Amino acid sequence: MIQSLDQIKEVLGPLRVYENEPLKKHTYFKIGGPAKLFFEAKSVDDLKLALETAHLYKIPFVVLGGGANVLVSDKGFDGFVIKNRAEAIKLVGVKGTINKHGRGIKSALVWAASGTLMNQLARFTIDQGLAGLEFLLSVPGTIGGGLKINAHFEVEKGEFIGDRVVTASLFNPKKGDFKNVDQAYFNFAYDSSKIQKTGEIVLEAVFRLNTASDKADLWQRAMDNVKRRNQEQPIGVACSGCIFRNISDSDAKRLATPRLTTSTGYIIESLGLKGTKIGDAQISASHANFIINTGEAKAQDVLELINLIKEKAKNTYGLNLKEEIFYIGDFNE
Ligand SMILES: Cc1cc2nc3c(=O)[nH]c(=O)nc-3n(C[C@H](O)[C@H](O)[C@H](O)COP(=O)(O)OP(=O)(O)OC[C@H]3O[C@@H](n4cnc5c(N)ncnc54)[C@H](O)[C@@H]3O)c2cc1C
Repeated sequence: MIQSLDQIKEVLGPLRVYENEPLKKHTYFKIGGPAKLFFEAKSVDDLKLALETAHLYKIPFVVLGGGANVLVSDKGFDGFVIKNRAEAIKLVGVKGTINKHGRGIKSALVWAASGTLMNQLARFTIDQGLAGLEFLLSVPGTIGGGLKINAHFEVEKGEFIGDRVVTASLFNPKKGDFKNVDQAYFNFAYDSSKIQKTGEIVLEAVFRLNTASDKADLWQRAMDNVKRRNQEQPIGVACSGCIFRNISDSDAKRLATPRLTTSTGYIIESLGLKGTKIGDAQISASHANFIINTGEAKAQDVLELINLIKEKAKNTYGLNLKEEIFYIGDFNE
């Protein structure tokens, strides 16, 4: 029971705070029990107010972006879920001078609210003729979720959302305050950023992009990625993308994987687990690092598949696989 329910409703608007909202409606997996309290932040100010309110009344909270990289417990979340729909993008600065041919801008700064979809950010920047984030076209989820995992398309290409960050503003859940940080603060690496440890929440971010010589070429590169994704990943099914992070280069060498691939999909496939089903959760037959919800899968079914994969990978290859997805809620039986 949340003691301060009435006060929270008064601050955020009685009709905007829902009780017992099913989270399966808000996740790509279509899995998850109810949130005790649920609020949709439609602007950065809304998001700030919701975070401050959660801190003031000491309610456990979690911010949900697109819900594309989470597994929510069947018991739901016994606290406050803030769904981040603060969507806005604008060009905030250019470097260089426009010459008489309308050219000359070398780079530009783009500001975006953290609830903006990465897909929207990609479209906006390509439309502006700016290169550097076109690989995000068709990567599901929001900028906030993307900065937490340092979203990418193909790791080998070395394109990460974090590479383009100049500054961001963050909420510190322990202190309840806000601060501006620069790119270095995040310690971005593959599937990793500092905010995974600190639990800080991204409110907004500024990205630096270079002017492309040819906008059509940017669209072509982005569309090539979409095509490849459609060939390699299960399409139109409920899932959370890759469940596990890739293995390390040193493990790939130790195991002498083909072409030294670090793909965890390869590892799971080689364990003979493709297609394995528990309840309505199944290890995808097309991409073994995806678990799909074929109907009414429970979080518990997905978790059992995850544990099965981890156990086999450990026993067979001595690997400690690490999840890429984040867990929300209580998973104790
Ligand atoms: C079909 C499919 C394909 C995918 N392909 C790719 C891919 O090619 N490349 C790739 O990188 N990823 C991929 N993913 C994973 C997913 O797109 C990314 O992880 C994305 O960053 C998730 O963003 P989100 O907003 O949905 O985060 P959510 O799933 O909502 O949240 C993930 C985590 O981030 C936290 N979070 C959310 N918003 C914020 C915020 N504002 N500040 C701080 N923390 C926050 C949440 O609390 C949670 O811990 C794929 C997923 C799917 C379903």
